[in-house]
Amino acid sequence: MNNDIIEIFEKSGRPIVGAGPCSAESEEQVMEVARELAAQGVTFFRAGIWKPRTKPGCFEGIGRVGLQWLRRVREEFALPVATEVATPEHVEQALAADIDILWIGARTTTNPFAVQEIADALRGVDIPVLVKNPVNPDLELWIGALERLNNAGVTRLGTIHRGFSSYGEKIFRNSPQWQIPLELKRRLPQLPMLCDPSHIAGKRELISILCQEALDLNFDGVMVESHCHPECALSDARQQVTPKQLTEILEKLVHRSSQTDADDIARFRTQLDRIDGELMRLIAERMEVSREIGELKKEKGLTVFQPYRYKETVERLAEHSALHCLDNDAVKEIFEVIHSESIRQQLRIVNNLD
Ligand code: PEP
Ligand code: MN
Repeated sequence: MNNDIIEIFEKSGRPIVGAGPCSAESEEQVMEVARELAAQGVTFFRAGIWKPRTKPGCFEGIGRVGLQWLRRVREEFALPVATEVATPEHVEQALAADIDILWIGARTTTNPFAVQEIADALRGVDIPVLVKNPVNPDLELWIGALERLNNAGVTRLGTIHRGFSSYGEKIFRNSPQWQIPLELKRRLPQLPMLCDPSHIAGKRELISILCQEALDLNFDGVMVESHCHPECALSDARQQVTPKQLTEILEKLVHRSSQTDADDIARFRTQLDRIDGELMRLIAERMEVSREIGELKKEKGLTVFQPYRYKETVERLAEHSALHCLDNDAVKEIFEVIHSESIRQQLRIVNNLD
C-alpha cells in the first residue's frame, strides 16, 4: 500500500455490524428496516441501489431515487449509510447524495478495468470504501483492487469476505475458503475485515454459525442482509433475516479475546510448536524416501505418477482418518499438497534438474 490506511470504524471492542436489505425496494421498506436496525444499535446501514444480477429480467435495483431514501435514513436515525458502486456514474451519484460508505461488489472486484475506473472517479475524495473479495478465489486480484484504490488516494479502506463461487450443489452459496481472507489479514493487518455471512450462506439458517466462525477467526465484524419481510424481498430472499432475528443472532455470539498472553494458552502453544516441528521432520523424511524412489523410477524408466498407487494411498488415508476421528476431506487436502510436492521433487530427479 503506497498511502497510509486510516481507520474507518471507531474502535469499540465490539464487532462492527453493518446491516440492511440486499436491495432498497421502496421508501417505506427502507425506512421500516432502518428504524428497527437503528434501535438495535448497528454500526451502519447497507442497501443495494444498483444490483448486479446474474440473469437479465431480475430486479436490477431501484436506481438513483433510492439514494434519497438512504439520505433520509442517515438524517432521521443518525446511521451511516453504505451502498455498492460498480461504475464511475454510480460513484458520482452516491457522492452527490452524501452516502457515507461505498462498497465494491464481488463481480466488480474481479474486473481490474472496472476497479480502476472507480478508483479514478474517487481520486481526491475522502470516503471509506469496503472491497468485497472477487467471486473467484484469487487473493492477488483482491489485493490488486485495494491497491488501485489506495494508489488513487483512498486511505479509508476495508474488506468484506463474501465467499467464493463454485459449480454444482453445495452447502454454501459461496464457499468460505477461510484461508484466503486470513492470508489477506496477515498481509494487510491494518485493514478492517468484515464477513458477509448472507452471501456465503445463501440461506438464513446458516448465518448464525457463520457469524460465530468469523468472530472466532478474529474478523472485525459482519455485514448481514436484513429485511422486515424477507420472504417478499425482491432479491436474495432466502438469505435475509428480520432485524429481530439479527438481534437474536448477535446476542448469542460468544466473544473471545485475541490476547495471547494467558499462561495456559502459552503452554498449549508450546505443545503445538513441538508437534509442528515433529510434523516437519516427518515430512522431510517422507520427501527423502520419495526422492530415493524417484532415483529408482529414473533408473527403471518408470513414470513418476502411478494412478493405482495414488488411489491406494488415498483409500488407506481414509481408513486412518476414520480411525483417528479426523475429517477425511481435510486429510485428503493435506495429503494432496504433500503428494504434489513429492511428485515435483521426483520430476526434478527424473529430469536431472537436481
Ligand atoms: C450485495 O452485498 O448485495 C451483493 C451484491 O454482494 P456480492 O457482491 O457479494 O455478490
Ligand atoms: Mn444480496
